[in-house]
Amino acid sequence: MKVILARDLLRANADQAQQNRGIFDRHGVAVVNLLSSPGAGKTTLLEKTLALLRGRVVIGVIEGDISTTRDAERIAGQGVPVVQINTEGICHLDARMVARALPELPVAGLELLFIENVGNLVCPASFDLGEHRKVALLSVTEGSDKPAKYPAVFREAQAVVISKTDLLPYTDFDLAGCCSEMHKINPGLDIFVTSAKTGEGLAAWVAWLEKMVAERKGFS
Ligand code: MG
Ligand code: ZN
Repeated sequence: MKVILARDLLRANADQAQQNRGIFDRHGVAVVNLLSSPGAGKTTLLEKTLALLRGRVVIGVIEGDISTTRDAERIAGQGVPVVQINTEGICHLDARMVARALPELPVAGLELLFIENVGNLVCPASFDLGEHRKVALLSVTEGSDKPAKYPAVFREAQAVVISKTDLLPYTDFDLAGCCSEMHKINPGLDIFVTSAKTGEGLAAWVAWLEKMVAERKGFS
């Protein structure tokens, strides 16, 4: 019986991720891996982001889901190229799945590629997809204790988008406490406090993305 160790799988994944990153860098595409638990609002944030960057940044999207193409259909409605990866039960995306999706996208013409990971706050943090930035979403309805309970994703991320702040009055979410907890885990973290409903914080988030896109172009 051959036993495959988790660390061997992760090493193979890291090799493929490096190849993916090589492709992205050759074309000067900035790549963001979006992570969160289910229902935090990744697809909604993407819809708003695509609308705000329309005509300014050329964007493509890879949608990771365990099943259905619903999120991909929502994104396609924004008029951007989108590929759906159905993991058929697997709870995270890996670099090989992303490599298989790339030929379906006009990568050479893109400036920014979003990879919406499977909704899961645990293992997606361990799988490098070849992205340049990991961004974690945390909705105020999930509770401000999530960073302390799931520190890996907040340690790996470069930015966190706190979402659904229009619902703050109806929750016990401790915004200041949560931000200081996240900065304890990861002092360099950029935090955006947002509501897709009211538009709060989205300008700063979009400015962060545009700055990243400009920086990545310098690498190609
Ligand atoms: Mg989604
Ligand atoms: Zn998983």
